[in-house]
Amino acid sequence: MEHRKETRQFKTEVQRLLKLIINSLYSHPEIFLRELISNSSDAIDKIRFRSQTEPGILGGDTEFKIRIIPDRENRTITVEDNGIGMTYDEVIENIGTIAQSGTKAFLDAIDELKKKDTLAPELIGQFGVGFYSSFIVADKVTLVTRAAGEETATRWESAGDGSYTIEETEKASRGTSVTLTLKKRGEDEPDYLNEWTIRSIVKRHSDFVSYPVVMDVEHEEPIPDAELLKDADGKPIGSTTRKAIREETLNSMKAIWTRNRSEVTDEEYDEFYKHISHDWNPPLARLHLKLEGTTEYHALLYIPSKLPFDLYMREKKHGIHLYCKRVFIMDDCRELVPEYMSFVHGVVDAPDLNLNISREILQQDSLVRNIRKNLVKKIFELLEGLEAGKYEQFYAEFGPVLKIGIPTDHENRERIAKLLRYRTTKSEGRYISLSDYVTRMQPDQEEIYYITGENPDVLLNNPHLERLKEQDIEVVLMTDPIDEWVVQSLRQFEDKKFASAEKGDLDLGKIDDRKKSEFGDFFGFLKNELADKVKDVKASTHLKESLSCLSGDKHDLSPYLEKILKATGQKTEAAKRVLEINVDHAAVANIKFVFEKDRNDPILKDYARLLYDLALVSEGGHVDDPAGFTKTIGRIMAEAVTAEELADKTAIEV
Ligand code: ADP
Repeated sequence: MEHRKETRQFKTEVQRLLKLIINSLYSHPEIFLRELISNSSDAIDKIRFRSQTEPGILGGDTEFKIRIIPDRENRTITVEDNGIGMTYDEVIENIGTIAQSGTKAFLDAIDELKKKDTLAPELIGQFGVGFYSSFIVADKVTLVTRAAGEETATRWESAGDGSYTIEETEKASRGTSVTLTLKKRGEDEPDYLNEWTIRSIVKRHSDFVSYPVVMDVEHEEPIPDAELLKDADGKPIGSTTRKAIREETLNSMKAIWTRNRSEVTDEEYDEFYKHISHDWNPPLARLHLKLEGTTEYHALLYIPSKLPFDLYMREKKHGIHLYCKRVFIMDDCRELVPEYMSFVHGVVDAPDLNLNISREILQQDSLVRNIRKNLVKKIFELLEGLEAGKYEQFYAEFGPVLKIGIPTDHENRERIAKLLRYRTTKSEGRYISLSDYVTRMQPDQEEIYYITGENPDVLLNNPHLERLKEQDIEVVLMTDPIDEWVVQSLRQFEDKKFASAEKGDLDLGKIDDRKKSEFGDFFGFLKNELADKVKDVKASTHLKESLSCLSGDKHDLSPYLEKILKATGQKTEAAKRVLEINVDHAAVANIKFVFEKDRNDPILKDYARLLYDLALVSEGGHVDDPAGFTKTIGRIMAEAVTAEELADKTAIEV
């Protein structure tokens, strides 16, 4: 058979990522060991899971182990496992590329931050970059791996300089070994080949790993009596002990979730989080549960401090791990929490679970359903109990995810609604709850007013809010695309209905009928002029300072929702809206005056168009013909000045 061997370039993203890792993590070099051990532990989890349905796959190699081999002579350190291994193609896929879509966008964002000199190493934790951290301490990394059930093995090697070589090779047994050729050691740098350095790193970062992490260590052992050299009196000559090598397990393997809360330190909790989540930032909050009774389970759950990079992606891998009596069953068990809590990481260990349960039937399992119900309750309690600053931090990252629950979880809708936070026209940039809003409502106010759009600062100046502001009525600014669905499915909060500030008429300050009839003809003219743009023209109940605005009927889509639907390809035709005119505005009075003097004055066409375009501009939209729009304004300005000057001159002459 042909022997495959090639030199390949890293994908550009990998090269950029490598540089970034090396630059931002140089201050925590030792974590490379944790990352390699975590990868090995995952690989053993995988083969173990597969062996449940394919018992033959293990062969005789059933004693799972992760071995650390320091080699002072060659300045190398090796981490070896008998996990699932990788095929030639899997190595290319997993190690030479980064599968996650959006990597480039992420790197661009980091570059942007770097320009501003604000790059925090935590940022990189949003990305699972484990293996590459080896290059912080190594000049060269060599990986040899043989996949379970395969005959040939694969050797991968790189100096982290943009390319790698990969070739077929031989390996005696299943699994992966990663060998780092260490860089020259600086004076203050730890010696990663030293037994005690290795012991302490493993203890600190990987103590709870559920497979033995072993190393051969030298120790003194007594020389057996028969082998001792003795003098004439039978007394031993020289030493009674000798040096010997013994395999030692460096980690306690204690499943952290089965221990008592009081026995586990914060540091241990955080390290465990890093191990299961592949996130390098410490978690924001944790929940350690021991439930007994009919539904028995242990759980150790965490809320990350940052939105993980892959949360919205299908290939996301590190969610909740399911165990049964400390035996790993599966990772990313999505059935244990609803989608709107998918940010939770951790472990659930249920002793009564059927070990051979498959993903397909998990959802129907009544025990799983009960655990899920209980976990949801506990997560709510955790969120509700978070101290305000922490909750804000959580909400800034995961608010949009939590909101998914409002349209999808009827049972807990109210409870989620209480957790929502929004900026409002009166909150001065701060986020407030809907309950806060309700307690701050005006005495005769019946509804919760809201407006949706992309940018809170643009929304603040939206002309639809002018009357509301005048009456000192607070308006909730909703800027997440999902907010549209939140309002539609909530409908009300604490018995107060939601009312759009930009749809339909406001119940405040009714316009008197006399005025309405005065403007009838003029509005008829505008409607006719703008027939292809608007479906009606009417006197506004919203405006105070602006000339005009556009609004929908109560049941129309909001412009923001229309924009979202358009962007997702669901809707192309924008619905016509109603042009609202501020009948109290001096400029409107002037235009009406011109109209009444001469209905055929050509300037009226310009004015009609302007009233429409200005309404668009004020809501942050784009006018159809920007060049025409500015020309018209220019001309009108010129005419206005000339008219004034002429008036002045006449005055002087007189
Ligand atoms: P992450 O572990 O966060 O996915 P890594 O860069 O550390 O990122 O690893 C990339 C992939 O390479 C892993 O997801 C896994 O599929 C594979 N891999 C890494 N180390 C091993 C190993 N020791 N055994 C088997 N597969 C491994």
